Amino acid sequence: MPDSKKVSAVEYLYAEVSDANTILGTIDSGLLSTYQGKDRAGWQQFYRKNRAQLAKELESLPASGFSDEDTRAIAAMRKQMKAFTGGGALFSPAAKCQDAARKDLAYPALKSALVACFVEIGNSLSFEGGKINRVSALDLLHETSDPARRKAVFFAFVPLWKAINGNNEPDSPYRRMIAGAAAAAARNGSEIENAARDVGQNPAEVERWLVQILDAWREASGNAMIEPWDFRFQAGEADRLLGSYIPREALQPINQRYYRDLGADLQQMGTLYDLSPRPGKAALAYTEFVTHGRMVNGVWKPTVARVSAPYERGGLFVLNELVHENGHVVNITAIRNRPAFVDWPSDLFAEAFADVPAWSTYEPVWQRRYLGHEAPEQLSLRALYSVVVLDVAWSLFELRMFRAPHTDPNALWTEITSHYLHIVPHPELSWWAVRVQLADLPGYMVNYGLGAILTAEMRQHISEALGAFDTGDPRWYGWLSEHLLRYGSERDTRTLMEEFLGRPVSPRPLLEQIHRLQPVVPHTGGPGSRPVFGR
Ligand SMILES: [Zn+2]
Repeated sequence: MPDSKKVSAVEYLYAEVSDANTILGTIDSGLLSTYQGKDRAGWQQFYRKNRAQLAKELESLPASGFSDEDTRAIAAMRKQMKAFTGGGALFSPAAKCQDAARKDLAYPALKSALVACFVEIGNSLSFEGGKINRVSALDLLHETSDPARRKAVFFAFVPLWKAINGNNEPDSPYRRMIAGAAAAAARNGSEIENAARDVGQNPAEVERWLVQILDAWREASGNAMIEPWDFRFQAGEADRLLGSYIPREALQPINQRYYRDLGADLQQMGTLYDLSPRPGKAALAYTEFVTHGRMVNGVWKPTVARVSAPYERGGLFVLNELVHENGHVVNITAIRNRPAFVDWPSDLFAEAFADVPAWSTYEPVWQRRYLGHEAPEQLSLRALYSVVVLDVAWSLFELRMFRAPHTDPNALWTEITSHYLHIVPHPELSWWAVRVQLADLPGYMVNYGLGAILTAEMRQHISEALGAFDTGDPRWYGWLSEHLLRYGSERDTRTLMEEFLGRPVSPRPLLEQIHRLQPVVPHTGGPGSRPVFGR
């Protein structure tokens, strides 16, 4: 609760504007056309009028004379309000992909054009005479056992790679964009610096941690070199063993049952889902507020969240992502704070926390309970950590691109993936360019790569303090709300994590997880053959 009446009035207005902002985002995502009886025009009018009023009132608050708590709330409102867009579809800009080729385009417009490439091209890759989207293509790389067909899926990405990075010439669209991103970061700071600060370290130490994780994988994955189109397949046997038990229509029931077992009833929370593909829709899965929880006449009116995704297929890889998105849902619905702080925690914390429940999908006990079948532990762990180390590889890639933006990205990606992931060099292909974040939010990948370190920390600590939760625990949601999630944007991640763990964040728990993997003994391959594990 605010200490000052003056702040209280502004904060009430802030809550109204903040809701109008995310309701407009919901309408513009295409999920619905009216909300609470008001259409887009009605919400827009409401938003414009009240936002202008809010800006005026925030500005006219005196610079001193408030309690510490109110002062921080005012700062939070000012900062969060800057990010309000008043609608517009997330990850689906009005820009055109073809504009990415224009050399005169300024950084923000260039970035939008590259995101448009993911929507225009990534949502309709040509494969076997038909069209598939990027998420399906990545899933097919795990599941397609015919080597020639698998290679064809991989090469379906070529038009996207070309749109993003041309022929990797020094002034390719991506190379011009990353130079702009590095220049902007020099002025305003980068996601990488933010993430480093969130764990109480500097970017150089973050880089050492990322390298340690990659090294642990390098040691646990044998010496045989593998083609990039075979990497996900070789690591993805668990996905293949379980794929048939996770048809597209089973994704939601499984997801909802798991969260019910964790004490979070997503249906009762009123979470909105928009999970089918649609032309022009955002090319990736994401979660956002629809309305923000707050006290109304002494009763908590809960946060409503929405999940957007373009799912054409089922499978374990997709299910893991859906459980991740709903990790975001429970994170924001668990916030209990004054309106100024009912907002996202840091990007690093949000991405790391979403994987706390999601990683369970790769534990055999989880699979037995929710799928009725399980893959052997070693195969499940390899599937999970192959995805994690790819995120770590992208994190290291971006960290180094930001440090030296004139670096040849294909050469850098080849160096990282050939040394740590034993992937055959293909510097002629920009095959790193499959993540929307690389264009939309340069530097953001660190929140997944470094985030994995926080995920492992949180999973370990919860298991020790509360007990194992891979097959559910009805106390889980309430306990995490109380100990970790209720603060929203109030607490910085470093303080939050140090109080939760009782010590600073360390890469050790993730390294221990990767060490659960036993080295692969190379095998000759061929249809039906299985990798052999053992030392
Ligand atoms: Zn996420």
